[in-house]
Amino acid sequence: MAENSELVLTIGLEVHAELKTATKMFCRSKNDPDAPKPNINICPVCLAHPGTLPTINKKAVEHVLRVGLALGGKLADYTEFDRKNYFYPDIPKGYQISQYQFPLVSGGKLNGVELTRIHLEEDTARNQHSDEKDGESLVDFNRAGVPLMELVTEPVITSAKQAGDFAREFQLLLRYLDVSEANMEKGEMRVEANISIAKPGERGTKVEVKNLNSFRSVERAIEYELVRQKEVLESGEKVVQETRGWDDAKQVTFSQRKKESSHDYRYFPDPDLPKLKLSEIAEFSVENLTKTLPELPTQKRERYARDYGIKSEDIEVFVSDLELDEFFEKLIPELENKDFVVLASNFITNDVLGLLKKDSKLKLPDSGNFAKIVNLFGAKKINSRQAKDQIKLLVEEGKTAEVTVAVDLTEIIEKIITDNAKVVADYKAGKASALQFLVGQGMKASKGSANPEVLQKMLVEKL
Ligand code: MN
Repeated sequence: MAENSELVLTIGLEVHAELKTATKMFCRSKNDPDAPKPNINICPVCLAHPGTLPTINKKAVEHVLRVGLALGGKLADYTEFDRKNYFYPDIPKGYQISQYQFPLVSGGKLNGVELTRIHLEEDTARNQHSDEKDGESLVDFNRAGVPLMELVTEPVITSAKQAGDFAREFQLLLRYLDVSEANMEKGEMRVEANISIAKPGERGTKVEVKNLNSFRSVERAIEYELVRQKEVLESGEKVVQETRGWDDAKQVTFSQRKKESSHDYRYFPDPDLPKLKLSEIAEFSVENLTKTLPELPTQKRERYARDYGIKSEDIEVFVSDLELDEFFEKLIPELENKDFVVLASNFITNDVLGLLKKDSKLKLPDSGNFAKIVNLFGAKKINSRQAKDQIKLLVEEGKTAEVTVAVDLTEIIEKIITDNAKVVADYKAGKASALQFLVGQGMKASKGSANPEVLQKMLVEKL
């Protein structure tokens, strides 16, 4: 059997994401799969009553096209919906409306990984099984018919980390485009990994792993499969083509079922839905869709590095945290000098985030007050210790910069020295208590907001 080192790991990912729309994919029921009560966002269409007719949710189509455009994919001109036939209680029609031969988007690239396609389909209902032995199973249709986007990559991913990074970047993109919340733990984004190992140039047997509900489990499951499949091959056996689940508690994959080939689904175009010629729909023109695209994560990273010289770890902190980044973007125009942006970035990533981490009740400060502190520091009117103290006050107690920062210690010290010439002379003659008097005057002048140690240090330096 082959040596370990000769075996190559190959991974392709399938990522499903629930789209953010007001209503479901083919009916007017509310799109709220996590509604507190089961079976409230339902209607005859998403319950699959006979004789009902689906209608296409335009917003969902637009979301997928925008994602395709952002990923550099080719948008379809002709597209249609197909029936993917299978029997399961979560899909009482007996088929899922999906896309087969004519997906909305073909090709494209993310994080250097080539994409095969992105298509649009409907989500299924949710089965809830009782924990009791012989207990009943119930079906909740709130999720049935929710618009679901499916992205398929080419089998070109070669490590667990690359797969995890791809999934993280895709989640970020969906959030930037505001097309999905894409929380993996809520099932709004679901990743499946097709994993195989083989000698270079040969084809391995593909194993599909499902139930991956975190980035970590994506990476762990791939690492686990790499070891498992190697052991199978080394023992002289063959890897079985199958679907495996991920047991997060035990950190292992387990066999679920033998994989159906796509032929088993008997795809055919859904006769109840119109074929779409996208070039005939004005709002779906590339020109119009392009106008709706925000700055994308990659573009933001480039801009932060190029315009402000922020270091890449810090850029990542902002780019991956939309709320923090919104604060940062609001702050930038309030800074007096472009060079202060990198100072602000340092204070945020070190000090502000450090404080927020220590106490989860704290919130991001007001950007205007934060800008004042950075501006004073940038103009060298306060030193770094003072800036950090002011930031702490602002974040922890919400004290505004008017109260806490309007203290220019350099000015105060100069004034004290001029006003107290005799005490200064005493200090210079060796009278130690004179210094304490001067510090006291400084505290008074700053209305108690200065740091006495800093004040003393600055006085000594000046004298
Ligand atoms: Mn699917």
